[in-house]
Amino acid sequence: MKYKRVIVWFKNDLRLHDHAALFSACKESSEIIPVYCFDPRQFEEVGLGIQKTGDFRAKFLMEAVDNLKSNLIGLGGNLILRTGKPEELLPELALELLAEAIFFSEEVTFEEKEIEKNLENSVWKKGIETRTFWQSTLFHIEDLPFPVNQTPEVFTLFRKECEKFSKVRKTLQKPEKINFPEIDLDLGCIPELSTLGLQAPGNSKKGVLPFIGGEDSATQRLQSYFWDKDCLKIYKETRNGLLGPDYSSKFSAWLALGCLSPRYVYEEVLRYERERKKNDSTYWLVFELIWRDYFRFVSKKHGSKIFQLQGIKKHVDNWRKDEKLFWNWAEGKTGVPFVDANMRELNATGFMSNRGRQNVASFLVNDLGIDWRWGAMYFESLLIDYDVCSNWGNWMYVAGVGNDPRENRYFNILKQANNYDKKGDFVRYWVPELAKIPGFDIHQPNTLTKNELKAYGVHLGANYPHPIVAFSTREKGMSVKN
Ligand SMILES: Cc1cc2nc3c(=O)[nH]c(=O)nc-3n(C[C@H](O)[C@H](O)[C@H](O)COP(=O)(O)OP(=O)(O)OC[C@H]3O[C@@H](n4cnc5c(N)ncnc54)[C@H](O)[C@@H]3O)c2cc1C
Repeated sequence: MKYKRVIVWFKNDLRLHDHAALFSACKESSEIIPVYCFDPRQFEEVGLGIQKTGDFRAKFLMEAVDNLKSNLIGLGGNLILRTGKPEELLPELALELLAEAIFFSEEVTFEEKEIEKNLENSVWKKGIETRTFWQSTLFHIEDLPFPVNQTPEVFTLFRKECEKFSKVRKTLQKPEKINFPEIDLDLGCIPELSTLGLQAPGNSKKGVLPFIGGEDSATQRLQSYFWDKDCLKIYKETRNGLLGPDYSSKFSAWLALGCLSPRYVYEEVLRYERERKKNDSTYWLVFELIWRDYFRFVSKKHGSKIFQLQGIKKHVDNWRKDEKLFWNWAEGKTGVPFVDANMRELNATGFMSNRGRQNVASFLVNDLGIDWRWGAMYFESLLIDYDVCSNWGNWMYVAGVGNDPRENRYFNILKQANNYDKKGDFVRYWVPELAKIPGFDIHQPNTLTKNELKAYGVHLGANYPHPIVAFSTREKGMSVKN
């Protein structure tokens, strides 16, 4: 063994399967000390009164850490829990516990990189090694057919090159045993949500799934979606759905925290293709995972530009900073039922479908003309599947400051509603004050007569708002995305 004692610092990789840092530590060190740090900066206010990590995401994170701890204990290990800055806590712990090295997964974005750099500087002076491992993508960074700083700007090119010239590596085995040393130290505990300025989120029974953080529930969801319910073979046809647990995989939250490895998902897709069926749908799930890779590599290539107003395209536009309009949007009170229904789902559950996200994002930036970063910030706080690269990358795309060859990603909300919620059931589910309006009319209450509205119990301007933008006078983007 190369080392006697190694700290494995868990971050957004809260699992035991296919975990490069843990796998290597088990091979190279006699004793392993797993550590997780709740970083208070992750729970600070970031502007407009928005907390960086909101209630839903925090709860999901606590559950994931708790599950990781149980699973480590199950293998003879344990998990030390601390609240504070990892770049300060880890060097202290390493010295106190006589650890020779700290192993961890590499991140790509600015704040995370700064923390890694500061940690490396601090422990280097103390003679403690750090080792980083690439972890979160389907294609390993070393297997890309181009240097990461030459990642193709256009998704299709990126995908084609990866599919043609790269291979997905096999998943790494989960360790059979973790040798956790005898130490005389307080192991710490998961902080109460209230100590982080958060509350236990409401338990809406209306959500698409009862999302529970952790590797166990992640693998159960995969088992259910692929194998028990046999949904994968129709994924491509159902993936634009809005209601219910099974129109899409719902893997995103577990992928974001690393409770699920994308390579494990990939291997299960291949097994499904061998044992059940191989078709466009099975391919399409992998296709979507490549989008996820794409945003990660684009973020690595462009650094902090993905958080800047002009994005990576350096596109300048006149974005408005109108807080009133923004909060109308955020609270689901725009008077545009399809937008409001989606935002209310997000606020009540911490989740929104992909179709919903594209529409509400386009509405904020194209119809309201508001600074796209406010939307990204709001999603960052609320989404249980928040992933820094996927979120900011997708927002850049919708805002037209990413590298999308299509100039205009304008979503015509009514057309979208007509395609994806023709009978209005989704709006009926989330906007009860409009529920009595039959059929597609629920999407356009402002076109109904006073008598009709009265009959349906709708009082525009009283129990449901007038639209906050006049659709007929929209200036931007008259091309319509499908
Ligand atoms: C404005 C906006 C913000 C978004 N923010 C996030 C985010 O913070 N975190 C996040 O994981 N996804 C984000 N997405 C992408 C996408 O909406 C979600 O990944 C998807 O809705 C999650 O549901 P699912 O797991 O059922 O997806 P499925 O349709 O089952 O897809 C399987 C997996 O592929 C990946 N994937 C699918 N679509 C995308 C995409 N467009 N970009 C990147 N990865 C994708 C996800 O990991 C997903 O779990 C965002 C999209 C938009 C338009």
